[in-house]
Amino acid sequence: MKVKRNSEIRCPECGGKVSFTMWSFLDSDLNIEETFALTSGSFFRHVCPKCGIRINVYHSVYFNDPRSRSFIRYIQTDQSDKEKDALVRRLADTVSEDGIPGYSFKVVFDPKEFIESVRNVRFKPAPSSFNQYRVS
Ligand SMILES: [Zn+2]
Repeated sequence: MKVKRNSEIRCPECGGKVSFTMWSFLDSDLNIEETFALTSGSFFRHVCPKCGIRINVYHSVYFNDPRSRSFIRYIQTDQSDKEKDALVRRLADTVSEDGIPGYSFKVVFDPKEFIESVRNVRFKPAPSSFNQYRVS
């Protein structure tokens, strides 16, 4: 899996080119700057260099936090709630088969919930609020 790639969008306001790095996998030990951007809420936000407006670009990301032994996956999708439920069940099965003992896994579909979940594992001591798919 590619960890990051260069991406660009057109500014919806002025049509200018907004270039940015799209990260698909973050490890809080290795990606300190990006993890900080995530917890401070600016990770998905990009600024148009031409007119200065802020543009949110939401995209799927895996986030690994070795310290709290937490893995959070944000999936950006237009699927229905029913399809999302089915996807979560499939992923939970995969985790119970191939997961790492002692690690917590979580899947979220909402970027705000993703940021909140990352804050929880980064700033709260125990991963107890967070044991959706704890592997034993
Ligand atoms: Zn612009």
